[in-house]
Amino acid sequence: MITLKSKLPQVGTTVFTVMSQLAMEHGAINLSQGFPDYDADPELFRLTERAMRSGHNQYAPMPGLMSLRERLAAKTEQLYGAKYHPESEMTITAGGTQAIFTALATVIAPGDEVIIFEPAYDCYAPTVKLFGGLVKPYQMQAPDFSIDWSMVKKLFSAQTRMIIINTPQNPSGKIFSDEDMQELVKLIRDTDILIISDEVYEHLVYDGKPHLSVCTYPELRERSFVIYSFGKLLHATGWKIGYCLAPAHLMAEFRKIHQFNVFSVNTPMQYAIDEYLKEPGHYLSLAGFFQEKRDMFRNLLQQTAFTLLPCAGSYFQCVSYENISTDNDTDMAMQLVRESGVAAIPVSAFYTGKNDQHLLRFCFAKRTETLEKAVDQLIKYTNTKAV
Ligand code: GLN
Repeated sequence: MITLKSKLPQVGTTVFTVMSQLAMEHGAINLSQGFPDYDADPELFRLTERAMRSGHNQYAPMPGLMSLRERLAAKTEQLYGAKYHPESEMTITAGGTQAIFTALATVIAPGDEVIIFEPAYDCYAPTVKLFGGLVKPYQMQAPDFSIDWSMVKKLFSAQTRMIIINTPQNPSGKIFSDEDMQELVKLIRDTDILIISDEVYEHLVYDGKPHLSVCTYPELRERSFVIYSFGKLLHATGWKIGYCLAPAHLMAEFRKIHQFNVFSVNTPMQYAIDEYLKEPGHYLSLAGFFQEKRDMFRNLLQQTAFTLLPCAGSYFQCVSYENISTDNDTDMAMQLVRESGVAAIPVSAFYTGKNDQHLLRFCFAKRTETLEKAVDQLIKYTNTKAV
């Protein structure tokens, strides 16, 4: 047999793929992987078809369609008061994950250290390691996942090259406060440390709170790759389109890699998205739309034996099952999918050390009937288990 030395020997298939697969096998309601179970606006399909039929079917410009970038620059300025030059400071990517991968490829050299906040989206740590970097996790704890910045400071060393933040946060639903951002500013002041700010859930912030983007903090902005996703904005995660903002000299390096990895992203969909975003209501309505789902789902879940954790943003609701079982969260998720017919994600999957706090994550980007049916099944299940 031909031998191959694995570059990621510890890595298996992502928990999202595994759980979605299991949900399918068991015919369970899939509240695990984060994606809507309803369709995107038909208007988007009409616009995509129009773009295809108008002959927009060849390569898009490498950094993305100019008119789309101009529209996104205007959106960013309007929402966050930050000016990004569409020519040199923005690239359309094949989704948020690819933008994160390319930003890490741009920056990380062997021996570089990267601070991440766990529970963290599962692509950060393996990608850092792929480029020879070392992950320094700060572990946030349930129920509020707050950050003690004096402890974050202890993770710093001469090798610290990057910090990755994610607000609203997947899976905890935590949003960074202005105090968090100010502490981050203090930490990176007078250093060369770069930032990836994963803001793919920017529009999913609830209870009238604003989304605090790194763009609004000049000392953060000058060193940040800021990542956004149309999958969340358009309810179309399968479109795999997003974008990255960064100051021109950082973006120039990002594009050197992007051009050989992706080259350019789906042309007709970029035309369609550009047209669709002419109407700001399409994204300004998202907070209200998902807050209604969050509130409904939380209300329903009160009837189960789960304990609800706070959810300030994102489309994820975490629950503790400490009243139900002492099993570890992976076993619990497996049991849940088999016995209740509802799939969830064990939160330990978001910790490099697999910390088990007896938490599960549910995605509530689902139709009302799906959430009602899922909770019915969960009530039945937890009633038989509650101690
Ligand atoms: N972001 C999605 C989630 O957290 C998953 C994306 C993926 O499966 N790669 O559920």
